[in-house]
Parts: sequence; structure tokens; C-alpha cells
Amino acid sequence: MDPGGSRDPGALAEWVRGEASRCMYCGLCEPSCPTLPLGPHRGYGPRGRVYLALAAVEEGRLTVEGLASIYSCLLCAACTLACPAGVDVPGVVRAVRSLARTGLAAPGRADA
Ligand code: SF4
Ligand code: SF4
Repeated sequence: MDPGGSRDPGALAEWVRGEASRCMYCGLCEPSCPTLPLGPHRGYGPRGRVYLALAAVEEGRLTVEGLASIYSCLLCAACTLACPAGVDVPGVVRAVRSLARTGLAAPGRADA
């Protein structure tokens, strides 16, 4: 599936759930991420972004800070080379960006 190409929010959210469900939160991806050292917390790395994405689709919530984490991803896919579970982190990020535009994950609804 090309998550960025789908216009169906339900299908996008389901795809994100499937990808995020494979994440073991092991952190093996984090050393490869160029944005993690530049951010104030681990939300600026792949593991944090997967966590935020799952919260966005499960609870319909994403704060402005959460959106900053999602939009600071470079979509470089370096994390995918290190991930033993094959989680498509840049695909998840693209999907959440699309969902944020539809209002499913609106900033400010609750704390992320
Ligand atoms: S995305 Fe992959 S490498 Fe990163 S924490 Fe999840 S399972 Fe581990
Ligand atoms: S795709 Fe995003 S989360 Fe993955 S390594 Fe690149 S900047 Fe980090």
C-alpha cells in the first residue's frame, strides 16, 4: 500500500495501526535517525514517531508538539534499514501527516 496515496482516512488509520503494531519499541532504529539528536526528546526519532502515530489513530489526538515531531521527520528511511520488524516509519509519518490534514488528529485536543 502507498499510504501517502490513499484518500480514505479509515484505510490510512488501519494501515498505521498495522505498521505500529509490529513496533517492539526496541530503539534499534534510533542511532540511525538524523533528527533525534537535534530534538528536545525522543519524539524526534523513529520510535517516538511510531508511538505518536499510534496515539493519533487510536485516540484521535496529537498536540502541536506531536505535530512538530511528525513534521520534523526527513522521510530519509534510514531507520527502516535498522528496524528488525520492518516498520515503514516514513510511511507512517506520511500517513499521519495526511490524517492531520483531515482533522482526525487535530492539534490541541489532548496531551500527547
Ligand atoms: S521502529 Fe523498528 S527498530 Fe524502531 S523501535 Fe520499532 S521495532 Fe524497534
Ligand atoms: S525517516 Fe524520519 S524517523 Fe526515520 S531516520 Fe529518517 S528522519 Fe528519522
